[in-house]
Amino acid sequence: MALVLFNTLSRRKEEFTPLVNNQVRMYTCGPTVYDYAHIGNYRAYVFEDLLRRYLKYKGYQVTQVMNVTDVDDKSIAGVRKTGQSLDDYTAKYKKAFFDGLDTLRIERAEHYPEATKHIDDMVALIQRLQEKGFVYEAEGNLYYRISSFPEYGKLSHMKLDELKCGVRVKSDEYEKEQASDFALWKAWEEQDGEVYWETPLGKGRPGWHIECSAMSMKYLGETFDIHTGGVDNMFPHHENEIAQSEAATGKKFVNYWLHNEHLLVEGKKMAKKLGNFHTLRDLLKHGYDPIAIRYLLLSTHYRQQLNFTFEGLDAAKSAIERLRNVTRRLKDANGKESRGKVTSALHAVQTGFGCAMDDDLNVSVALGALFDFVRDLNALLDAGIVSKKEADSVYAIMQKFDVVLGVIGEVEQEESLPKEAKDLIQKREEARKAKNWAVADALRTKLREMGVVVEDTPQGVRWRLGKKD
Ligand SMILES: [Zn+2]
Repeated sequence: MALVLFNTLSRRKEEFTPLVNNQVRMYTCGPTVYDYAHIGNYRAYVFEDLLRRYLKYKGYQVTQVMNVTDVDDKSIAGVRKTGQSLDDYTAKYKKAFFDGLDTLRIERAEHYPEATKHIDDMVALIQRLQEKGFVYEAEGNLYYRISSFPEYGKLSHMKLDELKCGVRVKSDEYEKEQASDFALWKAWEEQDGEVYWETPLGKGRPGWHIECSAMSMKYLGETFDIHTGGVDNMFPHHENEIAQSEAATGKKFVNYWLHNEHLLVEGKKMAKKLGNFHTLRDLLKHGYDPIAIRYLLLSTHYRQQLNFTFEGLDAAKSAIERLRNVTRRLKDANGKESRGKVTSALHAVQTGFGCAMDDDLNVSVALGALFDFVRDLNALLDAGIVSKKEADSVYAIMQKFDVVLGVIGEVEQEESLPKEAKDLIQKREEARKAKNWAVADALRTKLREMGVVVEDTPQGVRWRLGKKD
């Protein structure tokens, strides 16, 4: 089966073919480390992780680069406000960003280049653009003239003749309605304080857009396979990346552009003034399960708006528990052979999961196939018709799916229960053997209060983590 991806450049689903054999080179716009990342940011990182993991599942070798923007207008404003050095100011946000990746089980990219350590590469790229006549100076700043790049607008599908030419913006982010000449290099101003570099372009600092062009091409080559990012970066940021890179090299910059949609919270755009603005740190501080957050962020197709709700977070937690419970049950299944039932269910789920994911990472359909399978498997386990050998093969496939999803993890029946609960289960078993039903029932209730659901099955007592009463 071939993987098909929706390419923003062509506005079509296209079969994915890497430039070189089975090697995928992929660039992802990373964090601007001036504050803690919010869950909308992490939606993008989780989507990119799902893409990366699925490419690996398909047998591709992935080289992923994610930049860390550690100098920009906002971080300089932070430096001004706190009086810290730029490095000190950004250090804690960098650390929080990487902690967040680990907490959400986002695989590490191969490279995380930092903007402040690649100033020379950016200067060299600006010089190349100068030589080719794409750059002009105004008040000491260097600007990219978008009218000199006729293809400007091809990603966001804007037409250059509709744009007002000759309008300049210096700030890193600007109005989406207006295409403008943008700053490649910003001359030092008093408000920049200690944040500047002495370079052949003068004393100053790079604009935000040039950093992604310089660092992606440095690590991935002048043309590479996939560039991802949030839909809000499509214009102007990604448009500017294309203009800078293709003007400098004369080559196509990126073959496939993938953009994830926005995240809403309880149906509304996330905003501090609405009180629905959540950083990952806040959610974790309030005791929300990071893997449920991961599941919620990945379970909606990336090109659809995702509505983050606390109800949805509870549902995500139950979904993960269902996956873990069945995986746990497989570990000690020892029933009769199912006469092909397990094999055919396995075949169906592998096909269903793979076909859905091949279709532009349609994860909601893939999860649907997986939960149909879990339901059928539970029925077979209940009836005692899954042999040890069959259970082992299902377990291996569940682990393989989890290489993509990253929500089941290691499932160890014994290890994941607190000792107190283990003791209560043991006591309840003794009470049952002595036919002391009242005591057994009381212990069951007590366990339930601890969030452990005990069931008596023909194979003996079984427990799972359930909702606390
Ligand atoms: Zn970028």
